[in-house]
Amino acid sequence: MSRLDAILAKPKPDPDDLAVLLGADSPAEQARLLDAAYAVKVREVGPVVYFRGLFELSNLCTKDCLYCGIRRSNQKVERYTIPVDEVLTGARWGWEQGYGSVVLQSGERSDPAFVEMIAELVTKIRALSRDQLAITLSMGEQSEETYRTWFQAGAERYLLRIETSDPELYRRLHPADHSWERRRDCLRLLHRIGYQLGSGVMIGLPGQSVAQLARDILFFEQEKVVMIGMGPFIPHAHTPLRDGIRNFAWKRYAQLALALRVIAVTRLYLQDVNIAAATALQTLAPDGREQGLAAGANVIMPNLTDPKYRAAYQLYDGKPCLDESATQCRGCLQARIASLGETIGFGKRGDSKRFLERNIKGADKGETCENRKES
Ligand code: SAH
Ligand code: SF4
Repeated sequence: MSRLDAILAKPKPDPDDLAVLLGADSPAEQARLLDAAYAVKVREVGPVVYFRGLFELSNLCTKDCLYCGIRRSNQKVERYTIPVDEVLTGARWGWEQGYGSVVLQSGERSDPAFVEMIAELVTKIRALSRDQLAITLSMGEQSEETYRTWFQAGAERYLLRIETSDPELYRRLHPADHSWERRRDCLRLLHRIGYQLGSGVMIGLPGQSVAQLARDILFFEQEKVVMIGMGPFIPHAHTPLRDGIRNFAWKRYAQLALALRVIAVTRLYLQDVNIAAATALQTLAPDGREQGLAAGANVIMPNLTDPKYRAAYQLYDGKPCLDESATQCRGCLQARIASLGETIGFGKRGDSKRFLERNIKGADKGETCENRKES
């Protein structure tokens, strides 16, 4: 039996196995790895895909991450913030279509007007959907007070990618005033407050090794992450990391294959968490997100942002569906998911199974989270 097959025969890989699995890059090995992960996904979370309607709320950002197209220093971007009423109209449409959840994402700001706008949006989205829409926020690093304000307003999930679990690699990808430790502490804070915690990494970063990616997966478990949102790194022409672009065309296939292996190994190791098939996968192949689902992901985030804003929210080059309306986006995804033989969990919030089980067990043992709400 090959080493790969011996690992896949275990109920769950051991930590030392992760780098071996991530390195299984021959087409035949990769196919066996992805199939095994898909089987775990079906067993643990069913043949169901959950939709989260995504709103790219604002591209104003006070940070300057070296890889990101909307970083503060990129003067070529026209900055926007979607007015509250427009977001509410979009959220209502999503709710009427049967979406169980929405994600509000934006560049990082922490001024009082922004904090208040997000709290207002959260309160109003909960009200218009009679508390049925679960809300995920993805607004970067914030103070404890802000995280608590948004949680009290009704946001239950938060997505904050650690980007890489390796502090040294993180330092090479950020200006000196950005801190890996602060980001990690934000994750711990979010967990303590009671959010369903989401994190993730970029895959295929310059200088990133398979051993580092293996440690990323261990980091998710260690930090009690129950929703994983990770995708391939894709260079953006107006960022300091644009140099990667020269070689990127021929790296596309390898980048996609690596991203799929990371999804598969994460599913094999963490088993009962939610894993999103990132939109960035679709930049590498037209059916990239479906390939992500077949590798063990169970969440897709259809873009509900009005097309008039989308071109200005390009974190990376080649973002797909720039001019598709929300209706077109939904139709095209539905057909693709049906072709995989899966159904869409319309009307379902799609909480992470691991989160629910941990809370039930915690409640049994009296380990209640300080602010947990009934949902
Ligand atoms: N400002 C918030 C949320 C918006 S950015 C934050 O940073 O958390 C959301 C994610 O986009 C980031 O976490 C990063 O992982 C991803 N991203 C940014 N630039 C990218 C690039 N060039 N390729 C792939 N993903 C990128
Ligand atoms: Fe801002 Fe997030 Fe982009 Fe960093 S990754 S520059 S915080 S939008």
